[in-house]
Amino acid sequence: MEIWLTEEQTRGYSVNWKVKSIIYKKKTMYQELAILELEDFGKALVLDGVIQVTEQDEYIYNEMITHIPMVTHPNPADVLIIGGGDGGALREVLKYKEVNAVDLVEIDSEVIEACREFLPSMGSSFDDERVKVIIDDGRKYIESPRKKYDVIIVDSSDPVGPALKLFQKDFYKNCYKGLKDDGILVAQTESPFFYQKVLNKSYNYICKLFKYTSLYLVCIPTYPSGLWSFTMGSKKYRVEDTDPFKKGEKNTKYYTPKIYHSVFKLPMFVEGIITSG
Ligand code: SAM
Repeated sequence: MEIWLTEEQTRGYSVNWKVKSIIYKKKTMYQELAILELEDFGKALVLDGVIQVTEQDEYIYNEMITHIPMVTHPNPADVLIIGGGDGGALREVLKYKEVNAVDLVEIDSEVIEACREFLPSMGSSFDDERVKVIIDDGRKYIESPRKKYDVIIVDSSDPVGPALKLFQKDFYKNCYKGLKDDGILVAQTESPFFYQKVLNKSYNYICKLFKYTSLYLVCIPTYPSGLWSFTMGSKKYRVEDTDPFKKGEKNTKYYTPKIYHSVFKLPMFVEGIITSG
């Protein structure tokens, strides 16, 4: 019998995944965690029935949430990742020689354990000695972080359950305070098709706090609608002044210095979402 995982986005739109096998399944303190072997997409981390990353296309999300802020900041020595328990964004951050230390605050230790065991292409990044894992709620941690950061990456799941608080005004305010005077925040801000309110709110919260705010878009087959948004707030450095070639190539599959400036060019309807109301 065939097994399919269905992610219903609206009553008229769903994404279906053919599951070859269930490798691991566990109800953690926070969520239903599963590692599945998918047809065509390799192994995947699934939380509460929602695909977080697949081996076949995780590089797109993880490279793009990471390299854009890391290239915009001239010296990202201290980095904080909130969420990101799969280790994919962490793997990309560690490619920068400027990085001295990375703190990763994940609410669910079992996500990290499962990814270390079953998804080593991402999970093995936890072995780097520059990494400190803090098991805590990111919202709570950022109220009194142990230091100030150059770059904060909010690599959260969708805004439901424990991740809901990672899309709220006070959370972004505390991220701003948790950054150094020239710090940069980036957050995944969901699909411009299915999460317009979330995108509008998150963008505008960040915009009110930071001197410069830039939204950028990426195509990711795994996520509903395929089109995904990231919002970057910067206290000092402007996208327009960034030379993406300065830090060189980073052994990536999606990101290249050549696409740095292009991802900020927005379609009309997305401009409309961030400027409305
Ligand atoms: N790339 C993914 C996506 O957009 O679907 C997200 C990857 S990562 C697996 C998301 C992580 O955020 C999960 O491991 C989840 O446990 C963690 N998370 C959710 N809420 C959190 C919170 N309040 N504090 C820290 N981590 C949180």
